[in-house]
Amino acid sequence: MTERQLGFDTLAIHAGTAPDPATGARQVPIYQTTAYVFRDADHAAKLFNLQEIGYIYSRLTNPTVSALADRVAALEGAAGGIACSSGHAAQIMALFPLMGPGKNVVASTRLYGGTLTQFSQTIKRFGWEAKFVDTDDLNAVEAAIDDNTRAVFCETIANPGGYISDIPALARIADLKGVPLIVDNTTATPWLCKPMEMGATIVVHSATKYLTGNGTVTGGIVLDSGKFNWSASDKFPSLSQPEPAYHGLVFHPTLGGMAFTFHSIAVGLRDLGMTMNPQGAHYTLMGIETLGLRMAKHVENAQIVAEWLEQDPRVETVTYAGLKSSPWHGRAKALLPKGAGALFTFALKGGYDACVKLIDNVKLFSHVANLGDTRSLIIHSASTTHRQLTEAQQVKAGAAPNVVRLSIGIEDPADIIADLDQAIAKATA
Ligand SMILES: *Cc1c(COP(=O)(O)O)cnc(C)c1O
Repeated sequence: MTERQLGFDTLAIHAGTAPDPATGARQVPIYQTTAYVFRDADHAAKLFNLQEIGYIYSRLTNPTVSALADRVAALEGAAGGIACSSGHAAQIMALFPLMGPGKNVVASTRLYGGTLTQFSQTIKRFGWEAKFVDTDDLNAVEAAIDDNTRAVFCETIANPGGYISDIPALARIADLKGVPLIVDNTTATPWLCKPMEMGATIVVHSATKYLTGNGTVTGGIVLDSGKFNWSASDKFPSLSQPEPAYHGLVFHPTLGGMAFTFHSIAVGLRDLGMTMNPQGAHYTLMGIETLGLRMAKHVENAQIVAEWLEQDPRVETVTYAGLKSSPWHGRAKALLPKGAGALFTFALKGGYDACVKLIDNVKLFSHVANLGDTRSLIIHSASTTHRQLTEAQQVKAGAAPNVVRLSIGIEDPADIIADLDQAIAKATA
């Protein structure tokens, strides 16, 4: 008999978290400990050799943190994964086993502002490079992948412009070229989209956003499908050849579908130390219990608010893929049938000055550099999150000076609309 597949909401509550074996505690305890006592010298040696799985030191693994990684892996349909200290840490951790000096990642031009900066500036210090392409131009994506490319990177719903990536098409190209597709699934969450079912190899998350859902944690997740053949070429020597950073262990194929995950723990977390703390993991685990309920309300509210804004004569444009007017409406329907997320931008008549006035007059909305909170959030990307970019880059990233970004919360939609209505009135008076 085959085992019943548990549904999303059941996994969101139960995956990774059986009752605590020591005490029976039903909620996942916060294992606030740095180290774990070895049974004996032989046990310790086996753990260090990866011959037996267990806990050594919390920079590498911790039961609370592992429970979080296992739960998100279950929700995304991944073979394994790690939790780490932030979404940005997750991106470096995802690239780390794949890249090396002189290697590049082909990345979408439409990404979170912080990621554009991390990729265009900071990773250069490691000798890594990002080649940015318009991922709607599939020929350009294919042409950009060269002998030194080690991954393709996109976001499911690109923050902030409401752009939907064609994940199946990008996965096909990456596959053809023998490199993994990495998808940042932060703004969709696995409730709206499971990129691995569409061919992605690696999924990264900022757990700071919808997964935790209430603005209390900074965290990240890296997940691996376990299906990529790292040994098919000589492109990924850290995985397919003796790894000098781990006494010559050949991670793939030795560790099979867990090669990437074990490398991320045994070398990545060990040496880069971008570890999540157990208390943060506990909060995120609690947040995920209601992910399905929250996402349903987020997308329902976002659709209502976007439709209201679109018919308002004081508003120039609304970029939400849930609207028929969006160039990505059809793709959203095909790839995200449950909704196009809860993050979008709109342009106000009156440009930059009106946007700033709007921000200064909202009462229910919080003016913060965050998204994916139960609360409705607002920000003027061009003067904040996307400030370090040139105006051309801002426009390309969907953060032109005349647009405001909304992250629609799960309050009563009438109250969200009333707040926008009064603030728009003041901004455009
Ligand atoms: C916030 C965010 C990140 C970065 O995550 P942090 O947890 O803030 O480091 C990366 N990608 C997307 C899409 C985000 O929204």
